[in-house]
Amino acid sequence: MQAGRPTGPLVQGYEVIIGFETHTQLTTKSKIFSRASTAFGAEPNTQASAVDFALPGALPVMNKGAVLRAIEFGLAVNAHIAERSVFARKNYFYPDLPKGYQISQFEIPVVQGGSVEFFLPSTGSGQALEKKTVRLVRAHLEEDAGKSLHEDFIGMSGIDLNRAGTPLLEIVTEPDMRSSAEAVAYAKELHKIVTWIGICDGNMQEGSFRCDANVSVRKPGAELGTRREIKNLNSFKFMQQAIDYEVRWQIEQLEDGHAIQQATVLFDPDTGETRSMRTKEDAADYRYFPDPDLPPLVVSREWVEQVRSEMTELPRVMAARFVKDYGLPEYDAGQLTQSKAVAAYFEAVAATSQQPKLASNWVMGELSRRLNAEDKGIEISGISARQLGQLISRIADGTVSNNAARQVFDALWTGEGQDVDALIEAKGLKQMSDTGELEKIIDDVLAANAKNVEEVRAGNAKAFNALVGQAMKATKGKANPAQVNELLKKKLG
Ligand code: ADP
Ligand code: MG
Repeated sequence: MQAGRPTGPLVQGYEVIIGFETHTQLTTKSKIFSRASTAFGAEPNTQASAVDFALPGALPVMNKGAVLRAIEFGLAVNAHIAERSVFARKNYFYPDLPKGYQISQFEIPVVQGGSVEFFLPSTGSGQALEKKTVRLVRAHLEEDAGKSLHEDFIGMSGIDLNRAGTPLLEIVTEPDMRSSAEAVAYAKELHKIVTWIGICDGNMQEGSFRCDANVSVRKPGAELGTRREIKNLNSFKFMQQAIDYEVRWQIEQLEDGHAIQQATVLFDPDTGETRSMRTKEDAADYRYFPDPDLPPLVVSREWVEQVRSEMTELPRVMAARFVKDYGLPEYDAGQLTQSKAVAAYFEAVAATSQQPKLASNWVMGELSRRLNAEDKGIEISGISARQLGQLISRIADGTVSNNAARQVFDALWTGEGQDVDALIEAKGLKQMSDTGELEKIIDDVLAANAKNVEEVRAGNAKAFNALVGQAMKATKGKANPAQVNELLKKKLG
């Protein structure tokens, strides 16, 4: 890769280089080469078949659903879907791998190239966003291994093969990322894509979406440095911490005159440090060769086109539509397409209210705050999209102020009432729209506050604000503040 001008922030004079390998567990009901269930959390070894136990003579059979999901991913990231790809045996010994090899795609993966695009807050200026593109090298199908369970209290280890043969799509990037923030933004975008198209449930705790971060540093303009690979990052928070630690550690080593050794490391969330597991093995160590038990995987162009025609609208396509059709800023569009559920909710609010920007403000503002505070997803929001849409209509047509609308929002949320107009009525929140009535109140206020009026005429802005306050008080907060301002200005000349 070309050196030259650094494209990210320097850390102590070093450029940070990151590439990702992500294992996404596919949502098929059964395993990639057997009919055993992939459900999480069952009793050990109850969901493993002869193929997963590697009994002699048991043969793998390709799960079409896994291939379908790989195709969907490839289309979502504008990649090439290989017409013919090949499964290989990756040989290594591990107690949780009874065959002695993992079936994976090596030389010819099913998904080739493609890219993931996302926005990053640009360094410095407020809400400005910078578009980033991370190129993908490939995404290949493979089987997961089993698990070794170390039971300290009985001093023994057991093997659980329930996870053996679970379908994975491993997604590999070019070393295109230049900071931990960019790496986390990439991982979040990738997570959004795979959950949006439904090929992965995205559950990071259960290991459905595991990231390996390859990290190196170099002086700007130098060749790529030696990388260390941080394995199995299963939370965005740890991802950021682990990469930041690793970068500091590598710089310290280099500054102390030590070379970096290529290695695989683990992040320990308790200490906040990474530590070496093993020195990195090369592809040659695995003695890859095509698996004679599986024919090449052939994906017809007709199948690809059929999948393409049935794909759901992708988040970035939807975001672009929000910008074009609703006139929303790109930032809003990005936020509103965080998940399908949020996007659908927003569209329903916008349709009811016919006020897309207000709808966006309320969904991203008040509603998100509430959901976050109560740790709820939008699927179980205390206020329906229709109700919020109606409330926004009442702000737009001047019936209620923003503040009053917040009170109605509260009442809807807590279930005090269901109907927006009935609540506005019952709580006496209607904004005063009758100009005649308002003018009369303002005349009274002016008469009662002669001293303030004099001060305003002498150019005292504070005294003017005091009059606005008095008028609002006299209307019990029901006047439109802008209208009060305007009328006062008119009357005071
Ligand atoms: P391997 O075959 O050993 O897994 P790859 O060449 O496939 O190595 O790279 C694995 C990952 O490491 C890719 O995501 C790639 O972008 C990333 N990577 C490669 N070189 C570097 C480097 N010098 N610094 C950071 N990441 C790198
Ligand atoms: Mg690799």
